[in-house]
Amino acid sequence: MKQAYLIYIFFGPPGSGKGTQSNFLGKKLGLPVISTGELLRYEESIKSPLGLKARRYVKHGQLVPDKLIHQIIAGRLRKRDAAKGFILDGYPRDAKQLDDLLKLIQDKYTPWLIEVKVSDREVVNRISGRRVCNNCGASYHLVYNPPKKGGLCDVCGHKLSIREDDKPAVVRKRLADYKDSADPLLAYGKKQKRLISINGEQSIAKVRQDIFKAIDKIK
Ligand SMILES: [Zn+2]
Repeated sequence: MKQAYLIYIFFGPPGSGKGTQSNFLGKKLGLPVISTGELLRYEESIKSPLGLKARRYVKHGQLVPDKLIHQIIAGRLRKRDAAKGFILDGYPRDAKQLDDLLKLIQDKYTPWLIEVKVSDREVVNRISGRRVCNNCGASYHLVYNPPKKGGLCDVCGHKLSIREDDKPAVVRKRLADYKDSADPLLAYGKKQKRLISINGEQSIAKVRQDIFKAIDKIK
């Protein structure tokens, strides 16, 4: 029997740091990290037909439809660098997208799911501490990266603000949405016995170490 290549699907709540961790793993394994957000921005920047289509939704603050995301992902996976495996960040997001992906990869790849676990309370703490400068784009965090003068941008002195998406009530709503959509990913990983759950409430270095250890065991 021909051996399938492994792929790794990262998921976790907003603010879990899964983007950072997926890039660490990509470097370690020499695999491309495919992030839906980055991929969409790239397709828009080169003005590909699919990218332009997606931009119309993004511009109006709408979710890009599954079918379009799927076409963009499928195109990306056909590139040579993904032939021996890849890492996904932000896709699949829910049961439907997982289904689309499984149909696409068939038995050519074996997916492993990596959950970066962070409690609701910690997610709200992390995200609601974010501040941005609308003038120069600098970003801060009240606890992890505080501005020198309370409430003012270090770079340009402009008053800092909190993004609408980062307000606690909105974060709680985002968390609830995340849980609904991530449940099927968890269930699938458990059922296939290919789920790695990592405690995301540790230092970035420790989370990375835990992920690497878990990956070394399955290879
Ligand atoms: Zn500024």
